Amino acid sequence: MLKVHQIDVFYGNIQALKGVSLEVQEGEIVTLIGANGAGKSTLLKTLSGLLKPKKGTIQYLENSIAGKPAQSIVKAGISHVPEGRRVFANMTVEENLQLGAYLRKDLQGVKQDFERVYELFPRLLERKKQLSGTLSGGEQQMLAMGRAIMAKPKLLLLDEPSMGLAPLMVKTIFSIIEEINRAGTTILLVEQNAHMALSIANRAYVIETGSVVASGPAAELQASEQIKEAYLGGL
Ligand code: ATP
Repeated sequence: MLKVHQIDVFYGNIQALKGVSLEVQEGEIVTLIGANGAGKSTLLKTLSGLLKPKKGTIQYLENSIAGKPAQSIVKAGISHVPEGRRVFANMTVEENLQLGAYLRKDLQGVKQDFERVYELFPRLLERKKQLSGTLSGGEQQMLAMGRAIMAKPKLLLLDEPSMGLAPLMVKTIFSIIEEINRAGTTILLVEQNAHMALSIANRAYVIETGSVVASGPAAELQASEQIKEAYLGGL
């Protein structure tokens, strides 16, 4: 579904990604783990058209999308939930969800997806008239994910959905990610919480200072001594 080949991405003179390659097959949950500043968010931003690679190719469903405008990438079926769950604070839950669907013309489908999002996140249904800025951190994460689902993505890019959340909320969010995947959406998940990410992913990539240093089935990486040492707190 997605094939990233040898991409280089720069911020001015600083090279944030160095020849990164990775693949995501339809139906998978793939996770990208790595320390702070490794380049995880940069990769997602490049996939969703916010950054342009200087070198390399990105194939998505047989189309080349490297450097394409973000809007056309959303239209093609890639939704990005950025780090820090940016919701429009002065708008209600419902209005934020509506915005997620702004490119869609299939109004009947949008209506169904509203129902689907409220089924996935009952908490959002209870609070649909509430201003988003007053939601808790976990609820804002749910809203950011819900808004992305409203774009009807084939591929969902999630940037650190567990960040700053209490353990119980992290569990809830991860089980919803699995549910979204079971219902047919492919997922590329960036996480610092390597334990949780590896426990739900099919495959994983480890990124260090802009390069992929390991990859394989999630269960294999979870069992690797080196990965345990570096990313799983030695557990
Ligand atoms: P974190 O887990 O801390 O979010 P990350 O793996 O997502 O880290 P990135 O945000 O992709 O890392 O950053 C990769 C590198 O690019 C870092 O060295 C960072 O300082 C740098 N970088 C990120 N954004 C910019 C920017 N707008 N301008 C300059 N450098 C940047």
